[in-house]
Amino acid sequence: MKKTLNKFIAALTAAVMITGCSANTESSAGADISAGSGAEQTVSSGDVSSEDGADDLSSASLEEADPVDTDTPDNSESTESTESADIEPDTDTPNSTEASQTSASETVPATEETEMSENVKYIALTFDDGPNTTTTNEVIDKLEKYDIVASFFLVGNNINEESAKAVKRAYDMGCEINNHSRTHSNMSGFTPEEIKEEYDFVDEKVFEITGEHTKFFRPPYISVSEVMLDNIDVPFIAGIGANDWEDKVTAEHRARLILRQAKDGDIILLHDAEGNSQTVEALDTIIPELQSQGYKFVTVSELFKIKGIGPDMEKIYTNVMQQYMYN
Ligand SMILES: [Zn+2]
Repeated sequence: MKKTLNKFIAALTAAVMITGCSANTESSAGADISAGSGAEQTVSSGDVSSEDGADDLSSASLEEADPVDTDTPDNSESTESTESADIEPDTDTPNSTEASQTSASETVPATEETEMSENVKYIALTFDDGPNTTTTNEVIDKLEKYDIVASFFLVGNNINEESAKAVKRAYDMGCEINNHSRTHSNMSGFTPEEIKEEYDFVDEKVFEITGEHTKFFRPPYISVSEVMLDNIDVPFIAGIGANDWEDKVTAEHRARLILRQAKDGDIILLHDAEGNSQTVEALDTIIPELQSQGYKFVTVSELFKIKGIGPDMEKIYTNVMQQYMYN
């Protein structure tokens, strides 16, 4: 168990730099991860100057974090292929048949399509660091344009009377409103009381706006401690990213990074932080291209339900069908 946690934290340490958010605070992102695994060195602070530099940060480096814990057999090829064999071919007929069929019929509106047909793939678009009155609404405009839903992970201190209207607008469209902490701090060194305060503040604000509690938590910088896992009672979510907090990563490059990684069951992590217009622009490539590939966009909750998966409270999800702590 301890070993698993160490491996998990090592992976997260790498992930911190991959999915960190605001550029102004990003530099402190990985510094406080408690389990000093040395993985901080694995990923540099993300100078995405070369054309494909961001690609490396977005996915490949996750793999590099694992060798830190070389005596763990968990990540052996044989284990992976055996375990994933149970899940992946069964995408459309999950093991817990009863639960998944019920969920799918509840959450997916009936259309002329066969919802569980073999060609349909499901993916969840998510946006962090809002709400605001500008970029959040521009993102929602794109969702309306393509008639899809997404999930928003809010920073509590960004919620005010005006930005709350954007939250309500998204909620009324069928989007899911989730929790990204009150202050967007690296919470890995926080006490249980501080952690609960970060979570509860957002949860209460969202409940005031929508009448629903937040269902998932995205830790700022994907920085996680055991204390956080113990004191937040909803599943933790990461996602495939595109370094879209970096101004120098163009809209075209963001779209390409997401499209290159996307697969059935994935959670896409983008940002609706104020002024992040290149992500808004990238949506005009990402959404229609994935739709043309047979993807349907659903909320994070719907994604778990459709796949018949009850979230594991010890995982940080990038794909709802993942076997490991982190992807
Ligand atoms: Zn963030």
